[in-house]
Amino acid sequence: MPRIFSGIQPSGELHIGNWLGAVQNWVNLQRSYESLICIVDLHAITSKYDKDTLAQRTRDMAIGLLAAGIDPEQATLFVQSHVPQHSELQWLLNSVTPLGELERMTQFKDKSQKFESVPAGLLNYPVLMAADILLYRADLVPVGEDQVQHLELTREIARKWNAEFGRGEDFFPEPQPILAEAKRITGLDGQAKMSKSLGNTIGLLDTPEEIWQKLRPAKTDPARVTRKDPGNPEICNIYHLHKYFSPPETVALVAESCRGAKWGCLDCKRVLADNMIATLAPIRERALQLQEDQDRVDEILADGATAARRRASETLGEVRDRMGFLPARGKPAVFDEVR
Ligand code: SF4
Repeated sequence: MPRIFSGIQPSGELHIGNWLGAVQNWVNLQRSYESLICIVDLHAITSKYDKDTLAQRTRDMAIGLLAAGIDPEQATLFVQSHVPQHSELQWLLNSVTPLGELERMTQFKDKSQKFESVPAGLLNYPVLMAADILLYRADLVPVGEDQVQHLELTREIARKWNAEFGRGEDFFPEPQPILAEAKRITGLDGQAKMSKSLGNTIGLLDTPEEIWQKLRPAKTDPARVTRKDPGNPEICNIYHLHKYFSPPETVALVAESCRGAKWGCLDCKRVLADNMIATLAPIRERALQLQEDQDRVDEILADGATAARRRASETLGEVRDRMGFLPARGKPAVFDEVR
């Protein structure tokens, strides 16, 4: 069965942008592929972060993923820092990673502008991402457009390592992208991609009242100054959100009522809010149950990490051997477990 690796930062609660853009897809993929789903807390420290909330944000992300339908019976859900082999493989892959390629990464160029003194972790972020994927010798990686360049670098690192140490074979498969059908969810500001750091999100676990309070002031077609002004739904984010949360007949009604100035934007948003609340209700209910049983969540993550470490140890044992290191005394699996 082909293997998939997916990573998500521990940003706390999921928002509907993460859910529609990535997590829904993972829930579907876990049924047909061997899926590893990793909360990438080591990536989270490459930019400024709040150490006091990191642990809870990591657990909250796990709760969100489980509530959204990630099934620990089908997928391996774990936290990156619980599997130290990620960091070790990153170090080993540094030996074949060209510095120039890292400096050329668009995300590095963008993010490094925000620092007076750029942390080395920001530069090496894509090597850790390569290690995440190659550690499990994953065949496929669901990525958004903004990660395609990083995945291409992973493929290049795999090629270089195979050429140098592969003993004539492709030990690391070159992972292929699964591009989720173009779901770039725009935030409530109607401009940028939905992102927690921009404060333009609706949380997957928001209460019905919170959803309505966030939708009410959301940007719409500026041509609709009064109820009597016709609008263009195609340029309105509320219309596009209807497509994800409302039945097709409602979506058609929205377009018609907008173009014909048959209702106001608040009416339109109220219908969206009701459909969104109904869609998200079961997820919210599951999340509330998991929040009451955080030990169970930690147990699921511990089981996931154990399974991930087992696979990671196998890969690293081979990698160390092929790179010429003196084997540690004792069985490699024991060596990996005690660290
Ligand atoms: S009526 Fe609906 S689709 Fe049209 S501009 Fe207002 S919120 Fe957007």
